Amino acid sequence: MTSTFAQLGLPQPLVQSLAKRGIDEPFPVQSAAIPDALAGKDISGKAPTGSGKTLAFGLPLLTRVSKAQPHKPRALILAPTRELAEQIKMELGSAARAVDRSIIAIYGGVSYVPQKKAFQRGVDVLVATPGRLEDLIEQRVVNLSSADIIVIDEADRMADMGFLPAVRRILDQTSRDRQTMLFSATLDGDIATLSKRYQTNPVRHDAPSIEPEAGDAQHLFWDVEHDQRPSHTAQIIEASGRSIVFTRTRHGADRLARQLGKLGVDAVAMHGGRSQNQRNRALKEFSSGRAQALIATDVAARGIHIDSVASVVHFDPPADHKDYLHRSGRTARAGAPGTVVSLVTRDQRRTVGRMERDLDIKIDFAQPSLTPLFETHFDRPAVKPVVRTHDEPTLSRNEDRRTERSHRNKNSRSKAKNDVEQQSIYISNLPWSHSNHDVKRMFERYGKVYKTSIITDKRNGRSKGLAFVDMPTPAAKTAINALHGSSIKGREIQVRFANPRRYGK
Ligand code: ADP
Ligand code: MG
Repeated sequence: MTSTFAQLGLPQPLVQSLAKRGIDEPFPVQSAAIPDALAGKDISGKAPTGSGKTLAFGLPLLTRVSKAQPHKPRALILAPTRELAEQIKMELGSAARAVDRSIIAIYGGVSYVPQKKAFQRGVDVLVATPGRLEDLIEQRVVNLSSADIIVIDEADRMADMGFLPAVRRILDQTSRDRQTMLFSATLDGDIATLSKRYQTNPVRHDAPSIEPEAGDAQHLFWDVEHDQRPSHTAQIIEASGRSIVFTRTRHGADRLARQLGKLGVDAVAMHGGRSQNQRNRALKEFSSGRAQALIATDVAARGIHIDSVASVVHFDPPADHKDYLHRSGRTARAGAPGTVVSLVTRDQRRTVGRMERDLDIKIDFAQPSLTPLFETHFDRPAVKPVVRTHDEPTLSRNEDRRTERSHRNKNSRSKAKNDVEQQSIYISNLPWSHSNHDVKRMFERYGKVYKTSIITDKRNGRSKGLAFVDMPTPAAKTAINALHGSSIKGREIQVRFANPRRYGK
């Protein structure tokens, strides 16, 4: 198998822009699809959630896309939700800059003005949700006749009845001489209509998961009483770290967020009934670690990537096995560990049990038990570390105390204003083999980790089993509650605020 992005045929500027992000080795779907995509072939690509599909289509697209005239984008990527469109743009942004191509995302719920301005200058790559795109076509701001590279992300979703008519109207306006690529984790029969009509001799790629043992989530199915579901959810979040919880309805999401709040969990709700501003804020609060749980409808089930989501909870059962896979796929991404818990009431058992055939997992109903959630995966390194930078301070012996003090002072000086927002955690009795990366992984499941510093012995460079971690305050609190006294490789670790007096803990 080809081992570098350069060997797959991607140009140097793209390879370098990836290297700057710490992305050096292609994932399987990328090795498989990039050469064919570079050759201009039509592709149907199926690969698991979190396996790197965006770069698999995005990098060849950026290599081949031409410069656009005003109002006439040259490449189009369609996505089902606003958040996913925005995320695809972000994921491809630095690579696009590296090859001097412009990329924007357009979607509803936000102002037209900047979108229209961008088209006056010319947009090379357009990422769009169908609704806003049709709107701008109607207003003659966008003309798709020059678009000759087309990607439909989450293609099976885009081929279902809700989206299909719009998707067809849009594709019918693109260049006849075009490359059309369809991608999803569940690329099934539903895409046949799209494929037949819009693809020519498509190459089919079915990529395996990145690394089955380490990348796969553990799937738990709990027998629960209907009324107990909020408290089970709160316990799961407290035990495992930051979590995405799926409800069936918008109202259900709002209600659960309130109930969790009363149970002491910082939860935010995201669904189609909220304004784009509110949706963005919820996502930001969650991804930064200020909120420990995101309560969402299926609007967040597809494509959304947030680093280190420790678990996914199906508060209400998904509509079908595909929704189960996409929702569950918000955890255990890019080789990271994760847990998926389904809360199943007695009368839902049969419906849930029926998905077993289509899912590649065994459904064993069990009484709720937090033990599997505590049996964390700390000792299991991620296969492809998505973590990119580490500070490796080297400190002299006998300096633990001084280190702690100076670390604290440095922090309070530079971030005095942020004291409430951000705090330092002090960890002791860590296994010596634990690296900054391991520590980061361990805390990331509770929120954003700004910095980790393992204290090493200056003489031999070995870890002293002490470390500092800087995180947002709510995330730090949850992490301390969850991790203090837990055992890693047989050692009971101590976890506390680095400055107890200041933080009152
Ligand atoms: P998918 O669309 O298959 O669900 P994404 O494209 O959202 O997955 O990628 C998931 C995560 O993996 C992203 O954070 C992305 O930056 C990261 N990623 C993608 N390819 C690689 C790679 N080759 N090496 C390391 N990380 C990668
Ligand atoms: Mg994706």
